[in-house]
Amino acid sequence: PVALEFDGVTKRYGGTTAVDDLSLSVREGEFFTLVGPSGCGKTTTLRLIAGFERPTDGTLRFGGDDVTGVPPEDRDVGVVFQNYALFPHMTVGENVAYGLNFADPPNGLSSAERVRELLELVDLEGFEDREPENLSGGQKQRIAIARALAPGPEVLLLDEPMSALDAQLRERLRLQVKAIQRELGITTVYVTHDQEEALAISDRLAVMRAGAPEQVAPPRKIYRRP
Ligand code: ADP
Ligand code: ADP
Repeated sequence: PVALEFDGVTKRYGGTTAVDDLSLSVREGEFFTLVGPSGCGKTTTLRLIAGFERPTDGTLRFGGDDVTGVPPEDRDVGVVFQNYALFPHMTVGENVAYGLNFADPPNGLSSAERVRELLELVDLEGFEDREPENLSGGQKQRIAIARALAPGPEVLLLDEPMSALDAQLRERLRLQVKAIQRELGITTVYVTHDQEEALAISDRLAVMRAGAPEQVAPPRKIYRRP
């Protein structure tokens, strides 16, 4: 089944076409990556899914429903942006609980139980009372992922979550992100400019160029340009 679908979506900023007549489906439970050089429209595509941007033209559907005019807070998505800063004046537990956004936690859990479950999921059990400033970059990003997942969204959006990390930490976080995604089976759209990373982590990827995909395929079917 299809989780989300772009149908002829265009996004223009003045004279710049950031996303150009994009048609694309992401399947339920799929790890889908948008990869390509800076400026090819990856972040804009992610922001359209989150609802932070409205298309200039075209339709966006979630599970068959038109969400083109639906505001971000009414979309069932969790978002982790590049260098998504944790709140420095809050503990780790408070940061994750903040992701609930005053909604009731899923499955009848208390807020504290939900936070504990999420910290376990991201392999940071017992970190509730820690201060964000004392954590590594990879730990911070896993907390940001826990916060995004707190309300139990259908879709997880990740924009270059590894970009601030060195190569070794990136490799580790990549495995951790993939493990979290597998465990939850959550539909995930991931943005990166790193083709190796995209090939390693994705079920399918869209190789973007100037606002539209050049190839959409599983990693083994992607042909490399010299
Ligand atoms: P990326 O790292 O994905 O290339 P950027 O750092 O270029 O993203 O952009 C970060 C944010 O700034 C994005 O949310 C994007 O919408 C916005 N942005 C990018 N280019 C421009 C621009 N020319 N004018 C205004 N905002 C922009
Ligand atoms: P990527 O994430 O692949 O780097 P973006 O989606 O950030 O690409 O940007 C695609 C194009 O749209 C770029 O030319 C960028 O400068 C432009 N753009 C993005 N956001 C804005 C914005 N808010 N205002 C003006 N131009 C923007």
